[in-house]
Amino acid sequence: MAMIMEMETHKFQTAKKYIESVYDTVKERNANEPEFLQAVQEIFHSLLPVLVKNPKYMENGILERIVEPERMISFRVPWVDDKGKVRVNRGFRVQFNGTLGPYKGGLRFHPSVNASIIKFLGFEQTFKNALTGQAIGGGKGGADFDPKGKSEGEVMRFTQSFMTELSKYIGSGIDVPAGDIGVGAREIGYLFGQYRKVAGHYDAGVLTGKGIGYGGSLGRTEATGYGLVYFVDEMLKDKGMSFEDKTVIVSGSGNVSIYAIEKAQEYGAKVVACSDSNGYIYDEKGICLDTLKHLKEVERSRISEYVNEHPHAKYIEGSDGIWTIPCDIALPCATQNELNEKAAKTLVANGVKAVGEGANMPTTHNAAEVFLQNDVLYAPGKASNAGGVAVSALEMAQNSSRIAWPLEKVDAELKKIMVNIYRSSVEAAESYDLSGNFVAGANIAGFTKVADAMIVQGVI
Ligand code: GLU
Repeated sequence: MAMIMEMETHKFQTAKKYIESVYDTVKERNANEPEFLQAVQEIFHSLLPVLVKNPKYMENGILERIVEPERMISFRVPWVDDKGKVRVNRGFRVQFNGTLGPYKGGLRFHPSVNASIIKFLGFEQTFKNALTGQAIGGGKGGADFDPKGKSEGEVMRFTQSFMTELSKYIGSGIDVPAGDIGVGAREIGYLFGQYRKVAGHYDAGVLTGKGIGYGGSLGRTEATGYGLVYFVDEMLKDKGMSFEDKTVIVSGSGNVSIYAIEKAQEYGAKVVACSDSNGYIYDEKGICLDTLKHLKEVERSRISEYVNEHPHAKYIEGSDGIWTIPCDIALPCATQNELNEKAAKTLVANGVKAVGEGANMPTTHNAAEVFLQNDVLYAPGKASNAGGVAVSALEMAQNSSRIAWPLEKVDAELKKIMVNIYRSSVEAAESYDLSGNFVAGANIAGFTKVADAMIVQGVI
């Protein structure tokens, strides 16, 4: 008995030391990349029991390999603004892990974009894409370009210049970008046009999120937001709850937020708040989606204008305040680290029952701990926001078969995928005695899928 205990302790210590030593190297090599380090730490945090039980991951150097992008491309994006001035932005594409399929992941145009942000997103994407069960590897890209205040012409010229360089590294069987913050239908259109021009051929599956008229999939626009609500609904159902009559807050007001609000409302919830980077709207009667869609999708304006149409609603400066609104369900759909420990404590004090992440890593590590310690149902983004990329993979399938699917088929597939992700996260957590911890469950399920395939494919 004592001998078995000793062996177990030894296995535990070996795995622990291995994780720590790989993390130390990651820290040393990427000292100036806090978001990337946060994402690595968040995954590593869940892996100790997995490595204790499966030393093969250590023996095959999986952690050392999985934290190092297969390729990181950084490039100059020169363009000329409306005044004739030459401007230069920095573009990136990280091809993080191609074990399960062509690199897949969005492009983000936002002034905060840098190597750390792109690497954290690419790392997360690798596990998220694995969770979907589809044949897609992990990638991500973008530029530190701020679309805010730019004219149509400036956005087009910038986007074309970005693609002129990116086109050298992508293709339907190589790497398939899509949208993310600051990259929507308009930008995808320009990106596709420029790719077609410089590549000299029509590769329909080189980008996803395309318009319906030229190879896009029905349901892709709605997919991330709808998928989030399908996931959270599944999680609620397991506890005998639903969206019906619940008070919900959704941060952000982009594509993910809009369609999360739409589906939550359809499921009978009252969504009372949403935000942008300047402030938030509180509408106790429930957010009017028509107004929100018009402001964001047609006028591309700020949500502060919502109150012009709905004078009973309140606009409050500063987006952080949104978490002080009492709610049953919180759906952070804006950006990384938008929900900190203090906000998490406020949500818990106000009786929040479930938190579902629509954005990538919107909750800080300490905030996530607050939810876990207080038995709040907490769905991590890499599981709950996988609906967008999942439907992107369905778009790729439609492009390669040259057959477009009806919306009902896409939506039914999306729902099935989200339920599967939920189930496999639950099962992975249970198999390591971590029931109810969806963070650990999603991390473990995503990691083992990628790691097992990496072992089979050899040291490459
Ligand atoms: N940017 C989205 C994500 O974070 C979608 C990526 C895609 O469709 O490739 O998953």
